[in-house]
Amino acid sequence: MRIEEDLKLDFSDVLIRPKRSTLKSRSEVDVARSFKARHSGKTLTSVPVMAANMDTIGTIEMARALAAHGCNTVLHKFYSVEQLTQFFSGADEALRSHVWLSYGATSRDVEKHAAFEEAMKKAGAGNNMPDRICLDVANGYQEAFVHFVAEFRQRWPESVIMAGNVVTGDLVEQLILTGTDIVKVGIGPGSVCTTRKMTGVGYPQLSAVIECADAAHGLGGLICSDGGCQVPGDVAKAFGAGADYVMLGGMFAGHDECTGEIIDGNPKRMKFYGMSSDTAMDKWHGGVAEYRASEGKTVEVPYRGPVDATIREILGGVRSSMTYIGARTLKEMSKRTTFVRVGRQLNNVFGAS
Ligand code: 5GP
Repeated sequence: MRIEEDLKLDFSDVLIRPKRSTLKSRSEVDVARSFKARHSGKTLTSVPVMAANMDTIGTIEMARALAAHGCNTVLHKFYSVEQLTQFFSGADEALRSHVWLSYGATSRDVEKHAAFEEAMKKAGAGNNMPDRICLDVANGYQEAFVHFVAEFRQRWPESVIMAGNVVTGDLVEQLILTGTDIVKVGIGPGSVCTTRKMTGVGYPQLSAVIECADAAHGLGGLICSDGGCQVPGDVAKAFGAGADYVMLGGMFAGHDECTGEIIDGNPKRMKFYGMSSDTAMDKWHGGVAEYRASEGKTVEVPYRGPVDATIREILGGVRSSMTYIGARTLKEMSKRTTFVRVGRQLNNVFGAS
């Protein structure tokens, strides 16, 4: 047994210190970014905020709404080949370039992607085949996952591959060297995740982002901070810490574009659940397998109408944060960020549970 004594921080442990700036207004800052993907060589241009591939959040409706703001959506894994073919054959380039497919790491996932590619060709829409792919598993530390990513990269060299989740530099480097363009970072910070409670495993997200970004950027790779953002300021902190992309689940929950019933009441609410919660397991896998415990929970969140206002609020917060530290572009943000540690967690200051 070993204890690592270095302090590790979450978003709520820090604030961003303001800096002298020549910027006069939020309208002077640019929240779009362009990256060159290390392996595929493709140029990726977007506002690097992503809706998570949870079945309530990563929907086609969400993709349309977020693409209108230049943001990304990672579609959940449960769309059928027919549904994907129908959507992508009718989607224009502006929409397609903001939508990611997602798969797990099994032979069924490889078969599904191959079948989808075939179906797109048959539909005469081969040119519309999406090339942005997220391969994700709860625990990216399994050797088999790294092999899976390597094989996927060999078979689809032209694709942009985002893979994860991990939280340490060693695995970031391994994943990048074996074919990943963007490493997804986060174990345990999710709003409906109970991994930390159920297993005792995790890593404070701000430190994970700082350390993983450093490892990735040293190799010409990129990272996506996944989970743990509760307010727009957390998204700004993730970018300040060095995240190239930021993925959000809970902040996009409760909108018209989400899957799920609106529950009547005052206020109206919507169900939101983790992908390894009992709810998701019952829905997609016929229950939680006997050998495993659920590592996600089910909650009700306030119903908030169309996601449009929420995405404006998030991007408004990030723009304002950039103005406070004089960062004209997102790329400048981490260079201009100094975090100050706060004496007590901001959750307590905000009065959140
Ligand atoms: P949020 O933005 O809600 O804090 O976090 C979203 C992220 O939580 C997702 O992108 C995913 O990585 C993670 N997540 C979603 N469902 C579950 C779950 O059931 N268990 C765990 N451990 N993580 C989850």
